[in-house]
Amino acid sequence: MAAPGKDFYQVLGVAEKASQDEIKKSYRKLAKKHHPDANPGDASAAERFKEIGEAYSVLSDPAKRKQYDQMRKFGGLGFGGGRAGPAPGAGFGGPGADPGFSFDDLQGGFGNISDLFSSLFDLGKKGQAGGTRTGKQKGHNVEYVVEIPFLTAVRGGKVSVDVAITEDCATCGGDGAKPGTSLRKCDECNGAGTVSFGQGGFAVKRPCPACFGRGKIPESPCDSCHGRGAIRQSRKIQINVRPGVDTGSKVRLSGQGERGRAGGPPGDLILTYKVKPHRFFARKGLDIYVTVPINIVQATLGSKIRVRTISDKKVVLRIPKGTQSGTKFRIRGQGIRKDERVGDQYVEVVVQVPEKLSDEEQAAMQEFAEASGLKH
Ligand SMILES: [Zn+2]
Ligand SMILES: [Zn+2]
Repeated sequence: MAAPGKDFYQVLGVAEKASQDEIKKSYRKLAKKHHPDANPGDASAAERFKEIGEAYSVLSDPAKRKQYDQMRKFGGLGFGGGRAGPAPGAGFGGPGADPGFSFDDLQGGFGNISDLFSSLFDLGKKGQAGGTRTGKQKGHNVEYVVEIPFLTAVRGGKVSVDVAITEDCATCGGDGAKPGTSLRKCDECNGAGTVSFGQGGFAVKRPCPACFGRGKIPESPCDSCHGRGAIRQSRKIQINVRPGVDTGSKVRLSGQGERGRAGGPPGDLILTYKVKPHRFFARKGLDIYVTVPINIVQATLGSKIRVRTISDKKVVLRIPKGTQSGTKFRIRGQGIRKDERVGDQYVEVVVQVPEKLSDEEQAAMQEFAEASGLKH
């Protein structure tokens, strides 16, 4: 008896407010009891074991649990309603497909409950459709790290990035058949596009490897893509960098990822910025830090120096008499501008002592030492 969309708390027999420890304990107990090895030939035990695994994979992950609780509150889940539950095996085991960031970080947030549901189970990424016969699947998300120049990150601007993405083959239009030849039904999956295979005592659906999930086999494969219907291509994408982004900032370009399967929508392109260091400027939050050398006369008698800012201005900074090496000055409002906020620029002066003196300088320094009573 399959019970799609069962309440995960009920499945694990824990209260809504259960601690991670309680969840783990209950999961271990139930998984042991219902493990297919302990119940050979019992299909309902396998089903139950699978449910327990699904429930645990969500409730044991605080971020996923939070999202699940939200959906539960909004009534977007199958139990008690009409919606079908998760696909078999979805979100259970598998390689670490955690996107590593929350949905709030991305522009637009989540669209609707079903989007959130597939994100929760990471269906797009694993290539598991929601059990539909049509095999319509959203394309995979593609993630890239993009190095951007320091000043582009600070001021905003455009950068272009080459992204390798799997796209429909232009020669065959994506069906994998040599132009002018026909397709026949795939024997391997009997045209379904998916095959089931056992894993840990229960069946998991995967795209058919013989027909690449299309359900059809070309009589004569396309020369360009060798029958795959897709080719890996490098695509140049121009990105508008918003002012003030920093290393680790992410941007999501929706629909710029891998193509969808069988008419499904394309995945997204998720870029993570990595800001290159600058020769002169450094940053911390919205503040900019620079180090400027001054000579002993400037430090001793006072001076005015010109300091470059990130907006290419030269700001005049007054160095008071008797300034020590390492003194920091603040130039207000010359830091990074982001949204409504703006940082400052900090200037650290380093007093440079001459390494060599001419005879004349040597004599003057001697005179200075005598006048000031300094010993040397
Ligand atoms: Zn082709
Ligand atoms: Zn097939």
